[in-house]
Amino acid sequence: MVDLLPEQSQCWQKVESIALEHFSRAGLKEIRTPIIEQTELFARGIGENTDVVGKEMYNFNDRGGRSCTLRPEGTASVARSIVQHGLLNNGPQRLWYKGPMFRYERPQAGRQRQFHQIGVEFVGLASVMSDAEVISIAWDFLKDVGLNDLTLEINSLGSNEDRSVFKKELQDWLNKRFDLLDEDSQKRINFNPLRILDSKINSTKELLSEAPSLKDFLSNKSKTRFDYLQEMLAKLKIPFRINNNLVRGLDYYSHTAFEITSDQLGSQATVCGGGRYDGLISELGGTQTPSIGWAIGMERLIILAGDKLLQTKSPDVYVIHRGEKAEQLALEITCQLRSSNLTIELDYSGSSFSKQFKRADKSKAKWALVIGEDEASKGHLLMKKLRDKQHDEDSKEYIFSKVDLDQLIKKLID
Ligand code: ATP
Ligand code: MG
Repeated sequence: MVDLLPEQSQCWQKVESIALEHFSRAGLKEIRTPIIEQTELFARGIGENTDVVGKEMYNFNDRGGRSCTLRPEGTASVARSIVQHGLLNNGPQRLWYKGPMFRYERPQAGRQRQFHQIGVEFVGLASVMSDAEVISIAWDFLKDVGLNDLTLEINSLGSNEDRSVFKKELQDWLNKRFDLLDEDSQKRINFNPLRILDSKINSTKELLSEAPSLKDFLSNKSKTRFDYLQEMLAKLKIPFRINNNLVRGLDYYSHTAFEITSDQLGSQATVCGGGRYDGLISELGGTQTPSIGWAIGMERLIILAGDKLLQTKSPDVYVIHRGEKAEQLALEITCQLRSSNLTIELDYSGSSFSKQFKRADKSKAKWALVIGEDEASKGHLLMKKLRDKQHDEDSKEYIFSKVDLDQLIKKLID
């Protein structure tokens, strides 16, 4: 688990503000759920046989003896909240969330035990149009953050019926080749055979190139649906690649599954993962409710965005002061200017004027406000332009009265 230091959090704030802007324009509302949930929510909502529930969750008993879990992802909590509060009585819900998630994994670049996701959920919408819009929100957002070289991979997992026929067929095929599989895949045959398709082990990958393919088990209806999605993405000019082995780790997906990846992330290539989860809300006690969503890993996004996000905001004014009276006036004026939406940095060094001026220059402030004992006793403020000195030779210094701050503010905003 890692700290986010001040310089990094600036990048995070930038990404979060771009996200908020995109989500607001798409008419999404934010939902905030607790970080701790009952373990059972994830066992039911993600699936006992997934890596997340089986190996990665932080579970503990609280003082009341209840099994609790630090949330490993956001979708199950959002679905629980929607059911618990009957939000679907008001119609489909188009929501977003962000926050820390916890998984006990092997930490490496782009993989942490506490990490952060931003996610979107469309709950109560079945149309292919909603699949396309959900994907387009992720795509446009990532582009706007400045990420290029992204690849969108899509697949159809078909309906539950399509998948159960396929699952049986795949299990038979795998059992016949049991000895050729890696150990992890051998364990998965009975519980989560689809996940084997996603294996990163080379020998297993090779073997699987001959395996039955889910696409051959899709009903005509599922196929038409998938074709239509491709047509819509093409209309939106979102490039995509079909990846028939893309199954996603969680149990509740059906039909559309997708990932957005980047070559620049090494083995942690996926920055965004999502898909349709028509079975989740009913699994959690609600009525059958078609839904689709995605989650973006913030850490991976920030790695990809790199320097593009670094932009230090310099203050409008740096307040220089010397002496006790000056100090009081400096603080008073600082607070007043801050209330006028200006960005202020107040000097704390107490050093000589020349040293304070050096600090002011370093802060890249546009203006310095200078208050010495003389100014303080007269109630005057001396304002000096710090930037563009050569262009502005004759308008470098201004004196204002402390009771006439409006004039000063007007000059600052000019
Ligand atoms: P992976 O295959 O990389 O483990 P996943 O399928 O477990 O990913 P999801 O549950 O779909 O991931 O989560 C969506 C996104 O959250 C991922 O694409 C990734 O960007 C991010 N993510 C998941 N686990 C971690 C982690 N431990 N550390 C950092 N980011 C993560
Ligand atoms: Mg994972």
